[in-house]
Amino acid sequence: MKILVLNCGSSSLKYQLLNMENEQLLVKGLCERIGIDGVLKHERNEIKYEASIAMPDHNAAVKIVLEALLDKNHGAISSIDEIHAVGHRVVHGGEFFSDSVLIDDKVEAAIEACCDVAPLHNPPNLIGIRACKTVMPGKPQVAVFDTAFHQTMPKKAYLYAIPYELYEQHKIRKYGFHGTSHKYVSMQAAKLLGKPYASLKIITCHLGNGASICAVNKGASADTSMGFTPLEGLAMGTRSGSVDPAVVAALIDRGICPSVQAAIDLLNKKSGMLGLSGVSSDFRDIESAKKDGNARAETALDVFYYKVAKYIGEYAAAMNGVDAVVFTAGLGENSIATREAICGYLSYLGVEVDSEKNNCRGKEIDFSTECAKVRTLVIPTNEELVIARDTKSALQK
Ligand code: AMP
Repeated sequence: MKILVLNCGSSSLKYQLLNMENEQLLVKGLCERIGIDGVLKHERNEIKYEASIAMPDHNAAVKIVLEALLDKNHGAISSIDEIHAVGHRVVHGGEFFSDSVLIDDKVEAAIEACCDVAPLHNPPNLIGIRACKTVMPGKPQVAVFDTAFHQTMPKKAYLYAIPYELYEQHKIRKYGFHGTSHKYVSMQAAKLLGKPYASLKIITCHLGNGASICAVNKGASADTSMGFTPLEGLAMGTRSGSVDPAVVAALIDRGICPSVQAAIDLLNKKSGMLGLSGVSSDFRDIESAKKDGNARAETALDVFYYKVAKYIGEYAAAMNGVDAVVFTAGLGENSIATREAICGYLSYLGVEVDSEKNNCRGKEIDFSTECAKVRTLVIPTNEELVIARDTKSALQK
């Protein structure tokens, strides 16, 4: 069974084709600058192919992906019929979806209804779904939601302390994101530890350009740091994370921002590590500026580590203990200094790092000492594999 996984952004489309008999990745690639000019970057094992091809819209991009999959030199199939289904990453499923689902008109309408709470993400996700309907009519399509894994959160975790009617009538509450990643790395952690998933208290730290933390209690999300939108929680590449909401009013009252939207844009795009450091939103640049003696870069990193450590403490309290802390995504998988600094706050929990084991990038490892009470793990995330697995099981239901 071959499954095509698509992750559509407003001007980009990432794809992978997987053979789900053995979960092998067959090809992967990226269409960029859709609606502008168009660039295709495609890979099959060591073969890399890149081309400038006109992509006026997402329909054109989907057609170009299919051509790349069928190509005699760098493709992986000889007919579109070999693709059993398409799995789509969809960012926001609101309270409608607690699991992945086969897409029909009702599902499409529900995804559309969530566009107002995810205006940057859900519209391009929908465009991708509709493009596939046009280009591959009748092909089963499955939506896999970033929010679905967090639908197990109890009310005490997802409610904001604002008038209850706002939850009832407007669904203003915490949703949480990066669900496919938190689900994958927590399951993988249980495998690595050789213990039943349903017996473990795990804190997963997805630390990339976007960053969130999740308390996974006995295989279910019990709490997570992102909220109504992906702006809440940790400081991120360009996002502020949680701030006092009165900051928004101050930005407007003091004439710094002309409107609420401008203030939210400032918090989404000019804040976080970029705003604090004044160097970059990329952690590699900030780490290297710190090495060169840049004090603001050092402060920015200190703020980030401190916030991550505080969330870990919060979630250990929420679950009344923790068996493992998992690091994943670009920074969590690759930054030795980040893991060391965060774990440095956690000795009270029973975290003890083996520095030699921690001296690695991008591979699955338990980097705790033999006698550490809480295991610390690196688990490279694989959101596409979760999407493909969910697509397969949605088809079989
Ligand atoms: P992601 O959004 O998961 O792709 O993660 C991107 C972030 O990971 C960027 O801020 C990168 O700087 C950071 N990152 C990737 N590799 C490294 C590395 N070797 N050391 C430090 N940060 C890294």
